[in-house]
Amino acid sequence: MAGDNTPTPMMVQYLGLKAKAGDCLLFYRMGDFFELFFDDARAAAATLDIALTSRGEHDGKPIPMCGVPVHAAEAYLARLIKAGHRVAIAEQTESPEQAKARGGKTLVARDIVRFVTAGTLTEDSLLDSWASNMLVAVAPVGVFFGVAAADISTGYFELVTVTAGSLEAELARLAASELVVPDGFAQPPADAIIRPRADFDSIVGGDLLRRHFALATLDAVGAVTRAEQAAAGGLIAYLAHAGQGKMPFLKLPVRREVHEHLLIDQATRDSLEINSASKGGRTGSLLAEVDRTITGAGARQLASDLAAPLMDKAKIDARLSLVQWFHDAPLTRDAVRTALRQLPEIARALGRVVAGRGSPRDLGQIRDGLDAARVLRERLGVMESRPELLDMLLPALDGHGHMVDHLARALVESPPTDTAQGGYIAEGYDAALDVLRSAGRDGRQAIAQMEARYRDATGIAALKIRHNAVLGYFVEVPAKHGDALMAPGTGFTHRQTMAGAVRFNSPELHEEAVRITQAGGHALAAEAAHLEELIALVLSRRDAIAASAEALARIDVSAALAERAAESNWSRPSFVAHPCLEIEGGRHPVVESALAKSGDRFIANDCKLSPEKRLWLVSGPNMGGKSTFLRQNALIVLLAQAGSYVPATSAKLGLVDRLFSRVGASDNLARGRSTFMVEMVETAAILAQATEQSFVILDEVGRGTSTYDGLAIAWAVVEGIHETNRCRCLFATHYHELTRLSESLDALSLHHVRAKEYKGDLVLLHELADGPADRSYGIAVAKVAGLPPQVVARASSVLAKLEKGRAETGGLAAGLGDLPLFSAAMDAAEAKVDALRDKLSGLDIDALSPRAALDLLYELKRTAGES
Ligand code: ADP
Repeated sequence: MAGDNTPTPMMVQYLGLKAKAGDCLLFYRMGDFFELFFDDARAAAATLDIALTSRGEHDGKPIPMCGVPVHAAEAYLARLIKAGHRVAIAEQTESPEQAKARGGKTLVARDIVRFVTAGTLTEDSLLDSWASNMLVAVAPVGVFFGVAAADISTGYFELVTVTAGSLEAELARLAASELVVPDGFAQPPADAIIRPRADFDSIVGGDLLRRHFALATLDAVGAVTRAEQAAAGGLIAYLAHAGQGKMPFLKLPVRREVHEHLLIDQATRDSLEINSASKGGRTGSLLAEVDRTITGAGARQLASDLAAPLMDKAKIDARLSLVQWFHDAPLTRDAVRTALRQLPEIARALGRVVAGRGSPRDLGQIRDGLDAARVLRERLGVMESRPELLDMLLPALDGHGHMVDHLARALVESPPTDTAQGGYIAEGYDAALDVLRSAGRDGRQAIAQMEARYRDATGIAALKIRHNAVLGYFVEVPAKHGDALMAPGTGFTHRQTMAGAVRFNSPELHEEAVRITQAGGHALAAEAAHLEELIALVLSRRDAIAASAEALARIDVSAALAERAAESNWSRPSFVAHPCLEIEGGRHPVVESALAKSGDRFIANDCKLSPEKRLWLVSGPNMGGKSTFLRQNALIVLLAQAGSYVPATSAKLGLVDRLFSRVGASDNLARGRSTFMVEMVETAAILAQATEQSFVILDEVGRGTSTYDGLAIAWAVVEGIHETNRCRCLFATHYHELTRLSESLDALSLHHVRAKEYKGDLVLLHELADGPADRSYGIAVAKVAGLPPQVVARASSVLAKLEKGRAETGGLAAGLGDLPLFSAAMDAAEAKVDALRDKLSGLDIDALSPRAALDLLYELKRTAGES
């Protein structure tokens, strides 16, 4: 329609749907393709590396277009979602015949049936089997934030209320694939999805929760706060929007309390490389190092355990006792792990079934998974001295016998994902279906006999009866025999001439073909009806099935942790009531395995923090093993509270409420902050949040600035931690001067990583010893690193000069010992402010003459200036 700027009816429909899709890419169904237009086409073509073409015109310009075939759409969707896009799927909602019936050349009606977003996936091909996929909604209500999180691929759903101070750590724990917040949310994270404020109303949210779970009151969930109801409302509204009314699987929400788990902020997670390594990816992370789970559900459970270590000694011990049981019984462990290997994924198959996207294959997985669960229960049920947690889990593994039998009778052994071809309902399940199928089979046999007869009758040995989707059944002969069958009276009618062959029909063949097709159609319909019943059967038991899946995941995790512990001689940690951290022979699991690969041995080290000596200052040369030591102790705490054995000969600790790590100058330039700024921001967070129950590791604080600034800051931070936070802390530094703090700070003790020079070469022993380091060995490290000899020699003479100067002036920290104590300095600052306040509040302004007022101003100024 060149020259005419009126949009075509199709474009009008498209633009209407696109307006509804908003900033999601619109997949517009046309026949066997999903087409994308305009900017969507440009973005998709670039991400998917497919051809950008054009079609027709809009506003006098060609419309950019690209398309993906419907049968391969999932793979393309996966790439678009990974690249950060969201996609709206517009399907044809009526057949061309229905459209025609509405009148003349009416366009087929289309509508958006689903929004595919990172947080609302259920397809196996779009998900990592070992990682959860969290959709999180946050709602601010007063000074609180309600957080609702769901993994709809398994139905997991939780609610928690936090204050501003712990929101970041909670979001870091949940590691959402998609985060939704209400319009007007202060400083939303960059990739957050902004949704209408009305969706986050606490009253509406409470109603939605009650309605979704058919509850009279929310008491069954616990004391759900208003903030949680608001967040749940936002989450459910978003899910309803994404599924366009079709709700995915949500289990009854679990209410969590912030103090139920060890809080760990994002910076600490990154620096400890818990779930992913600093260079990105899972390899090299603590999780990858520990993970010996067999099933995807187990891997996801372990990741979530490590992301949220517990604060309840009884719960931790329950987990540990099960790990120990598997640890002490290697044969049972092996048998269970072998059984788990056969286990198909239950949780996600169920998620798809509930979301209305379940296939016969999903039902087959549920059947086989639950059957294996029952066998496992029988085996474990006869074992002796079972720990309590196992006894709690076992009943959940059973009770599906009736449904499993039903599914076993109804479905073939390995049912397909696609239902279009049928063949998934087992022979013998439904007599009527069997009759229809045998009619089809008889028909096919009749056709085979017909082919033989035709060959005899025509004398053409190469004659074949074939089938394709366009023509149905037809007779085909090579081109040179075509004429023979064309002759009148043969009973064959010509249908198609190909390059090397000619195709015919015959009345007899036609009749048989109709019979086969009809029987096939009826059979397909019968299978579809059975599928629906089977799905209803599974849905009626969804909560029990989900509980089995959870119990299996916990068993997998426990046996896997036992396996990992046995591999490297880990030990069971024990917990005490006072804040201590006593670790003998501690090791860093990731560094240890890396060293083992090159045949090197890891040197185990002890750590002994107690209320009397709760702050260790660790000095020593670069590369001496300081940050490894710091991290290994943090990881041991984390593993212990997650219910795992730990890489140490023994470990005893008081529960840690928050874990902080500031290790190494992790460059954050990408986020536009200098390293030093990042370091200070993170240190500020630690000083503001660490409590007496916390554990903090700090490495080289102050390294990012000049020597004097750096030393001054490090000095003040150590004092602050010691006097105010009073937490357990390991502080590594290369500022030798800090060792002087041990004179004034009682709970601080000095340690160093050992090194020695042997025949002019530096030997790093990676061994921790008491007392301060005797020297810094910086130049020796530089020499090891390969600095040219002349530079090393020059550095040595510069150092000699500097050290001479230091000896004469008393060194960098000269005079610092005379400063008033940290607490005294704080008191003085406060006292001064208070003196001003006292004077001002006692003032009767109306009674002052101008002269007196002026005098008073001078006096106030003097007070403020006093030091
Ligand atoms: P620092 O923080 O003192 O500069 P690191 O902790 O980064 O030193 O350790 C430097 C390297 O030394 C590590 O990459 C590791 O290869 C090795 N290392 C550290 N600790 C040990 C140990 N306990 N046993 C063996 N090698 C170690």
